[in-house]
Amino acid sequence: MSFEVPFIRPVFPESRLIGYDFDRIVESNWYTNFGPMERKFSEAITDYIGEGFHAATFNNATSALLAVVQCVLGSGDGTRSIIVPSFTFAAGPAAIEWNGYRPLFIDIDVTTLQPLIADAEAALVSGRTDVAGILLCNTFGIGNAEINQWQQLARRFEVPLMVDSAAGFGSRYDDATRVGTAGVCEVFSFHATKPFAIGEGGAVVTRDADLAVRLREFQNFGFTPGIGATALGLNGKLQEINAAIGLRQLETFDDAVASRQVIARGYAERVDPAVFGFPPGLFASSVCFASVLLPTHALREQVLSTLLDAGVEARVYYAPAVHAQPRFAAAERFSGLSGTESVVSRIIALPVHQNMTSAAMGRVVDALNRGTSK
Ligand SMILES: *Cc1c(COP(=O)(O)O)cnc(C)c1O
Repeated sequence: MSFEVPFIRPVFPESRLIGYDFDRIVESNWYTNFGPMERKFSEAITDYIGEGFHAATFNNATSALLAVVQCVLGSGDGTRSIIVPSFTFAAGPAAIEWNGYRPLFIDIDVTTLQPLIADAEAALVSGRTDVAGILLCNTFGIGNAEINQWQQLARRFEVPLMVDSAAGFGSRYDDATRVGTAGVCEVFSFHATKPFAIGEGGAVVTRDADLAVRLREFQNFGFTPGIGATALGLNGKLQEINAAIGLRQLETFDDAVASRQVIARGYAERVDPAVFGFPPGLFASSVCFASVLLPTHALREQVLSTLLDAGVEARVYYAPAVHAQPRFAAAERFSGLSGTESVVSRIIALPVHQNMTSAAMGRVVDALNRGTSK
């Protein structure tokens, strides 16, 4: 089925620019393995995030998450846990299991949609000794307003705070610092469906220069130059052509983010705030899409079907939550996850495109307002 307003409409650089870049790649005869484009892109990422940071690019965020757990904690023996929200994308909990740890699912706050810090704190103060770390998710790439409290909690219990900020390249925390600057490291995805899109790609950003070196070795089979494999690794390298697309995307990315924020704010201004609950922080994020909470499941279903009937490809994210997916059904749940269940039953993800036309925006807003007035 094709929609008048598709859920995602990535904007890629003009083909003449990418053609020019591809000719440079052919000229240099260097297609992958940390070539000139990758090194330039990696530097551009650290310039973008801020002084004192290091970046390791990856072929996608999933291998970046695998690398982060391995390089920060090493392999587990299947007995230790990593605190992670169930309201996230399955790649995070999967990276935990691939590295020999168990996901310990915590709930989310039903207003901010961010992981519930009270759950994490209760797990840590309970005296259980199996918690090896925290894999926070910046929900939908929105900067967590309590990021400082999370960092304090992690310090207090001496566990590493790793952050999956997959969709959050371009987002800011409440104090205006960029998403990417928190915890031991933060992970970004540059998948075609994210606001910063290069096709397949990702990056880890960290203050820790040694960690950045280990992350680069991990994605190169665990090789240390001149020695061979010194650690467990895989092939997770970013190709030159994707790095070239990233460099082009960066040239116009601030405008892209601003444009997406205008659309999200436009939705919020044109619907009843007593009915539609947009998560705080959305408008300071890179806005991968505009998630909105309805008061009840019945109303969500009504609004969702009105949107679909109007040709608007709205979706439900993250749904099902990870604990409700068969592979993770047996994983430990720290709490009842009632907030997660409630949000999954009431949320809608609205399409947001860069430079969305006012006709497309109007179609979305009209359907939202009609859907609630039935
Ligand atoms: C998209 C996403 C991922 C996976 O990113 P890929 O680059 O496709 O591997 C991981 N975590 C979250 C929260 C995501 O939104």
